[in-house]
Amino acid sequence: MTKAIRIYETGGPEVLRWEDIEVGQPGKGQVRLRQVACGLNYIDVYGRSGLYPIAEFPAVLGMEAVGIVDALGEGVDSLATGDRVAYPMQIGSYAESRLINADRLIKIPDSIDDQTAAAMMLKGLTAHYLLHRTYPVKKGDPILVYAAAGGVGLILCQWARLLGATVIGCVGSEQKAEIAKANGCTHTILYRNEDIPSRVRELTDGVGVAVAYDSIGKATFDASLDSLRPFGVLATFGNASGKVDPFNPAILAPKGSLYVTRPTLATHVASRELLEQGANRLIEVVKNGSVKIHVNQTFALADCAEAHQALESRSTTGSTVLTI
Ligand code: NDP
Repeated sequence: MTKAIRIYETGGPEVLRWEDIEVGQPGKGQVRLRQVACGLNYIDVYGRSGLYPIAEFPAVLGMEAVGIVDALGEGVDSLATGDRVAYPMQIGSYAESRLINADRLIKIPDSIDDQTAAAMMLKGLTAHYLLHRTYPVKKGDPILVYAAAGGVGLILCQWARLLGATVIGCVGSEQKAEIAKANGCTHTILYRNEDIPSRVRELTDGVGVAVAYDSIGKATFDASLDSLRPFGVLATFGNASGKVDPFNPAILAPKGSLYVTRPTLATHVASRELLEQGANRLIEVVKNGSVKIHVNQTFALADCAEAHQALESRSTTGSTVLTI
């Protein structure tokens, strides 16, 4: 028996239940992990609330964690028991122990501690693909980052600065503005009060940004388009305010022949090659200290409902880890 957070229906944080589950033996290609810590991600809220579909109930939520391999299934030769590994985008991480396909796991160097490892995979690999694949950021590019003091946001801003971008960060409070500025943002916009496109034009000599990395969705879609320079890219990659409404692509022409994409990390880690390419680069920048993973909140996994409440109420900054 092991403990896990499960849901039997979608809804508010109250649907999260801490209960016993059976884990069993790993099948072909799988390992069993004794998990040490899980990362909390906004996608967990979408799964719990019903914004994203859940295949089957009861379901163990959670998409990333770090743990120790404690049993190997048939045919697994890339890992040994005792290996410390982490993973992103594998539903079922809110558990003390779990089965998982070995080819989804990345070995974590000793110099990266458990909390960092638990927080960095999903959010860090997202920052990686947005900056290197969705719109490859170039030195001198002005870019717009939403929720700049959040989990993905703080990693994205530091990494973008490392690549030489001028980062404009949208933040929900003065306190978040300070945190964002200490982590790569040159400018911040208090987007609860300020008009985003006009502030962006002021900050870019009227030109606009090369790319808007928009994790807010419904509430900011139009403002993002109106903040782009000609040929600019809107990467709308999250729905913290709700899903973007359907739109007419013809509006992109007069605004400057713009591009809109709706990427997901799932595609960017679908093959082992893609997963390893991103993970290697991420581990490098975390190990050499150029990107810091700020774990600013921790909760016991059993108290996961409190963590969800904190994330949804916009009161967290940086990453949140659920300890086991
Ligand atoms: P964050 O730590 O960024 O938390 C969400 C933040 O969004 C809040 O702190 C808040 O910051 C901002 N926000 C704005 N409007 C709202 C609202 N109405 N309700 C709640 N929050 C709001 O979360 P994560 O780092 O886990 O995720 C960030 C985003 O990235 C999410 O939208 C997530 O879905 C997306 N994502 C997408 C991936 C993909 O591949 N497509 C992968 C990973 C994450 P503020 O107060 O500054 O406005």
